[in-house]
This record gives sequence, C-alpha cells and structure tokens, in this order.
Amino acid sequence: MNNDNILAAFGGKPVRDSYLPYGRQWLDQDDICAVLNVLKGEYLTTGPVISQFEKEIARYVGAKYAVTFSSGTAALHGACFAAGIASGDEVIVPALTFAASANCVLYQGGKPVFADIDPQTYNVAPGSIQKLITKNTKAIIPVDFTGQPVEHDRIQEIAGKYNLVIIEDAAHALGASYKGQKIGSISDMTMFSFHPVKHITAGEGGVITTNNKMFYDKLVQFRTHGITRERERLKKNHGPWYYEMHFLGYNYRMTDFQAALGISQLKKLELFLQKRTLYAEKYMEALQNIKQINLPHQKEGAVSSWHLFVIRVNLNRLFAGRKEIFEALQKENIGVNVHYLPVYLHPYYCELGYQPGLCPNAEQIYESIITLPLFPAMSSGDLSDVIKAVKKVLGYFSH
Ligand SMILES: *Cc1c(COP(=O)(O)O)cnc(C)c1O
Repeated sequence: MNNDNILAAFGGKPVRDSYLPYGRQWLDQDDICAVLNVLKGEYLTTGPVISQFEKEIARYVGAKYAVTFSSGTAALHGACFAAGIASGDEVIVPALTFAASANCVLYQGGKPVFADIDPQTYNVAPGSIQKLITKNTKAIIPVDFTGQPVEHDRIQEIAGKYNLVIIEDAAHALGASYKGQKIGSISDMTMFSFHPVKHITAGEGGVITTNNKMFYDKLVQFRTHGITRERERLKKNHGPWYYEMHFLGYNYRMTDFQAALGISQLKKLELFLQKRTLYAEKYMEALQNIKQINLPHQKEGAVSSWHLFVIRVNLNRLFAGRKEIFEALQKENIGVNVHYLPVYLHPYYCELGYQPGLCPNAEQIYESIITLPLFPAMSSGDLSDVIKAVKKVLGYFSH
C-alpha cells in the first residue's frame, strides 16, 4: 500500500469536525481595553508603559533588570552583542531548537557550534557542551526546550571554568523554575518571547532579563541604534538637543501598546500556567500505557512551564512512519506540529558547511517527534479529542 491508500483506507469520520491548532493566544476584553487606553494616550512607543512592563517582568522572574525588544529574536541579538560576541567567536547552541537560537550568533559574525541533546529530556547535554569547548568559545545559549529548564548546575560549572557567558533562550519557559529558582534570574541573560503561541503575548515582542548592570546598559543602547542621551556617558556635549551614537545598534524597540498587552497578559500568567500543567498531566495520565509512544521525561528539580507537549512515536511498534502518523492526526483535525528540524540541517546552514551526522541524538529524535496541541484556551473537550485521535491513529498503524 502506498501512503495515499493507507490514508484513504483509514478515512472515515474524523474525531473532530473543526481544526484544533497546536497553540494560540488567549485574549479577554481587559487585554483589548489595555491596548485601547494606550492608543488614546500620548505615547505610542517608548513611553511609561514600556518601563512598567519591564519592571513587572523583572519582578516576576526575580531579576534586577529587564529590557524589552521588538521580538525574542531581536532580544537574542542584543544579548549576543552585550556578551561581546564578534567575528571568530564560537557560541555553543543546542541542535534541537528554533533557528533564531543560532541565527543571533551569525548576526554578530560569530560561529554557532551545535551541541547534541539528552535523549530523555531533549535539552542540551552538558557533556556535549564540554566536548565542544575551544579557546574561541565565548558563550553558551542553552534552550529550555518545551519549557523544561536545562541542567543549570552543570552548565554553570562549565561556564565558570571557561569564563563563558550564558545566554538562556527561555522562549518556552516563562514561569518555569529550576531547584526553586525562577527561570530569568539564573543565567547572565535570559530571553523570553511574546509571540502569540508563547505563554503570554504582546503581538510580537521579547525581553532580556539580567542582574548585570553592564549588560543592561548595552542592551538598552543596542535596541535604539547604539544611541545614548545619558549625560554622564556622552563623550562631548553640545547642548540640550545632543545625543551620540557609540556603536552600530538597531531599532529593536517594542511599542507602548504592545507593552500594555504584555502587562495585561502577565496578570493571567498563573492561570495560563495552571491550565498548561493540568493539561500536560492529563495527557500523561491518558497516554502512559500506550507502548507505541514515549512521553516527555521530567528531570528532578526542573519544573516545566509546559509550552509544548512532545511525544515520540516508537517506530518499531508501528508499520507506518512518523509522516503517516502526523498526516493521519491532521486528518482527524488535530493541529500537530514538529519542533524542530535540527538547526544545522536547514539548507542555509548546510551551505555554511554544517553537515548531517553532527548531532546524532538530535537527528534521531527529530525523526520520531510529534507536538500535540497544548494551550490554555483549549477546553478539556479539545483535550479528550486529541487523546481519542492519538489512540485511534496509533491503534490503526500498530502491528
Ligand atoms: C519563539 C522562539 C524564539 C524567537 O522568538 P520571537 O519572539 O518569535 O522572535 C527563539 N527561540 C525559541 C526556542 C523560540 O521558541
């Protein structure tokens, strides 16, 4: 049977009539009012609401400073700049992540060096980081994949030994904690994203949290062209109108109405986290005895914020590949996804000279992962539909 025949034979009435996405935002009337209030006011950008959002994010994660950016990707770029990444510097990045985790290194002329992942947590394996260190290594960008914190103790030990900056990509991990400490207060700099599929949204947007004043000052200046108006930092001063550009920065600012949305969403973060955690637990419970899949593995001390629920299909127990299972779930109107193609397998990275085989665990795991829908705005009925569809599809394709 070719794939088309399998799907046609499978056919029948789908578990759901309407399509359930893998993730989406939750917006209430108060979010809309918060944005409108700013639109009716004096400042559209870089006004008082930005500062308020930054203060609230910093307070929430327990960091001294927060600097907002127009996106999480821009925030990562800023962090690479602040860390001093420049041409010839190597930065260690996990293979299994979104391209932006590595692209930010390229923006600064640095070289991403890909570390393999732990086959249980899918987070970067500290042992793999250790092996890749050279005299050119400047920084590590650990990614809290799916919301599960990385092994901070071991990563900090390595960073301390070789004097490396840790830029944590916590786009998945707002609200997560490691050994009782909130993500955002642990690494030298931590990035969160406010894209609509993430924990809270500002439409687009990102932030870096840090306890380091020097990083903070650089980040603030970087997001506004490398320009400063701070009198004590000026090299000359021609008068009240005067400002100076000290390095090549960008316009990476977030608007005040986006920040207003962010503040309003932050008020709901605990509710969002509770829902995500509850749904993840329900998936675990309902799917635990299914031998054709492996469920997410949580390490001791790491409390996930459950951005994604990633299952691995056990291809030995099925007569179809991941692709057929994925397509069958789509036919059931379940919005499945795959996170992620290992970064260096993207054609652009291949053109840069990276080759298949670099990180065998990441490559192997990529072949069998499927992300199930998980977001606070889904109902428990939606959740049951996903469970039903997974059981139906796996049952169909089992030996
Ligand atoms: C979403 C995401 C980013 C980028 O954030 P944007 O706000 O979309 O620019 C970076 N890294 C990871 C792991 C992400 O999931």
